[in-house]
Amino acid sequence: MVFLGPPGAGKGTQAAVVAKRLGIVHLATGDILREAVRQGTELGQQAKEYMDRGELVPDSLVVDLVMDRISGPDAAAGAVLDGFPRSIAQAEALDGALSRMGSGVDAVVYLRVSEAELVRRLSLRWECSQCRTPYHGESRPPKRPGICDLCGGVLTQREDDRPETVRRRLKVYYEQTAPLLEYYREKGVLAEVDGEEPIPLVTERVLEAIGSTVGRVQRGAWMG
Ligand code: AMP
Repeated sequence: MVFLGPPGAGKGTQAAVVAKRLGIVHLATGDILREAVRQGTELGQQAKEYMDRGELVPDSLVVDLVMDRISGPDAAAGAVLDGFPRSIAQAEALDGALSRMGSGVDAVVYLRVSEAELVRRLSLRWECSQCRTPYHGESRPPKRPGICDLCGGVLTQREDDRPETVRRRLKVYYEQTAPLLEYYREKGVLAEVDGEEPIPLVTERVLEAIGSTVGRVQRGAWMG
């Protein structure tokens, strides 16, 4: 399952809840890359300059990393991909790898959010430095300022949520990632959900959309 949408659409929030509800693994390439940067691994050192500029990290660094994870034992029952694929080339690599495993993308959830709302969300976005739970200054504030409700960790802002980097990330999204909407629509797996509704309502809509898309795809396959 793939979550698509611009930065700030709520992919991370929704993908985490949906993965938990369905009992499958949540794979967020942005989180994996940020962790690599924090740990100073070779991957992290190479990825950092692209991330700081709000650009896509080259496929040579990202694609194998995702392929490794989805072919691992914890993804045997499936995975929710959040932040991957982000280009047609990545989507083709994913399709190729999954079809070699006798599998495929069952559903793609597109979270639709207006640009004005995205900018508002990103500028007020915070996350826990320990468990990575997302917060928002207005719509989802922590109970105690600066402290994570779940684990007590300190909240921080992402470096790439600065206004000029946000603009760059949105441009990259519209140029390189948005064409995936048509790619998956043609395959009949795209489900569109209004991402501006309250978080729990979006979750319900996402689960309904996944149910009907997967049902339709499976019925289609069954009917030949
Ligand atoms: P995210 O947390 O999904 O907003 O990702 C943060 C940053 O990580 C992006 O702006 C990119 O620089 C990088 N990144 C995450 N996923 C990918 C991907 N699939 N391909 C290339 N770069 C990525």
